[in-house]
Amino acid sequence: MVEFVHAICDACYAEVDAPISIVRESVAVRGMPVTEDFEYPICPECGNRIGHAPTMDRNLEKQYRRYRDLRDIPQPEEIVALRKRYGFTQRAFAAVLDMGIASVQRYEHGALPTAAHAHLLRNMRDPRYARERLLGNRKKLGSDEVDKALSAIEGCLGGSVDYAFVRIELLDGMASCASPETGMRSLEAARLRETVVFLASHVRDLYRTKLNKVLFYLDFASFRDAGVSFTGLKYAKAEFGPVPDQYELMLAALTDGVDLSLLEQGEGQVVVSNRPSDLAGFSADEIELLKAVCAFANTFASSADLSHFSHGETGWLETPLGQIIDYSYAASLRWKCK
Ligand SMILES: [Zn+2]
Repeated sequence: MVEFVHAICDACYAEVDAPISIVRESVAVRGMPVTEDFEYPICPECGNRIGHAPTMDRNLEKQYRRYRDLRDIPQPEEIVALRKRYGFTQRAFAAVLDMGIASVQRYEHGALPTAAHAHLLRNMRDPRYARERLLGNRKKLGSDEVDKALSAIEGCLGGSVDYAFVRIELLDGMASCASPETGMRSLEAARLRETVVFLASHVRDLYRTKLNKVLFYLDFASFRDAGVSFTGLKYAKAEFGPVPDQYELMLAALTDGVDLSLLEQGEGQVVVSNRPSDLAGFSADEIELLKAVCAFANTFASSADLSHFSHGETGWLETPLGQIIDYSYAASLRWKCK
């Protein structure tokens, strides 16, 4: 059945009901030939193909759809679906992809993505890639947005989460600015990792609770002697001694099975290094302090003995449970090291 459009012919200016004829043609889209059945209203008076905007739009949409199929570019409705599947608003989606929000809106409404943007959108079909983009651009989003998208993406992954990757990112996420609470040093993931690799290869039976104390003495001694902590960790008072703030997260981030691992031993887990430490980033004084804290830790027969010793620290005794231990207590540290 033939359809008609009511239009004014742009050649003979007659007001006509023009029948639509379907013509199979090849057109070039970004230099690539695309063959489709296009619709043209034909003027019954003069035979002209009438330039009728809604029909031209439909033809354009058809050739773009064909082009996207041939180039494997997500169609507009797929872009909307991908974005919603990962729990992104248009603004968050744009931020995660490093593109303008106007681009996202145009692509969702049928504009052809640039080659670079097409590549990004295609990759977003893989939830692992979506997570990588999200974590890499997390600072542009609110923490609620990040959490919502992360849980949506992990739902798409069906439980097969690559935690090694997430953990490294978490450690970077913990990085903080220098402040009195961090002993005036900003926490850097690489420096902390290298420190723990050294401790794990030089302290005997480095149980996870023992690591907390060794780090505490290292940081507080460094603050006392050099005016700045060693790693930039904050410490809180826990029932059994001082512990780095968010230490479960920190330990999970560090023991990713690459540089460091956790090994079941006796009634607990010890931290072991999987490679020699690289001390290139430390000064001679810092290396001396690292060696000294290991020697100090090794004078205790057991992890419990070191724990008992730490309970005599003024900073631990005077700080309420769960509160941050002020670095000013370093002045009264019981380990003198020199
Ligand atoms: Zn005409």
